[in-house]
Amino acid sequence: MDCIFCKIAVGDIPADIVYEDDEIMAFRDLDPQAPVHVLIIPKKHIASLDDADGQGELLGYLMQKTHEIASLLGLKTGYRVVNNCGDDALQTVKHIHFHLLGGRKMGWPPG
Ligand code: AMP
Repeated sequence: MDCIFCKIAVGDIPADIVYEDDEIMAFRDLDPQAPVHVLIIPKKHIASLDDADGQGELLGYLMQKTHEIASLLGLKTGYRVVNNCGDDALQTVKHIHFHLLGGRKMGWPPG
């Protein structure tokens, strides 16, 4: 499969990995939008939230781990988790991922 995040998940493409276990991986975004910006992915290929039927246990696990990863990264005063799903949201990589952003005050609403 020609999926860049699948290749990162199996180690075929290098990434700055901050957390990894059997199910998920978190690595730094190449184009950070905040002092801390990592992408959290399931290793299993799921294209987007629209394709996630039946994946509740895995995605629940990923969400549960997110605060642990935020803590590992020293985000003590808050952080934002973003999922872009589909074209209107500007999803560019078709392997579900959750942006974990922190280290600065966020604005609202997002663009
Ligand atoms: P999205 O627009 O939500 O699909 O986000 C995709 C994100 O993946 C962007 O923030 C990119 O900067 C990031 N990205 C793309 N390729 C890589 C890569 N090889 N390593 C780390 N981040 C990447």
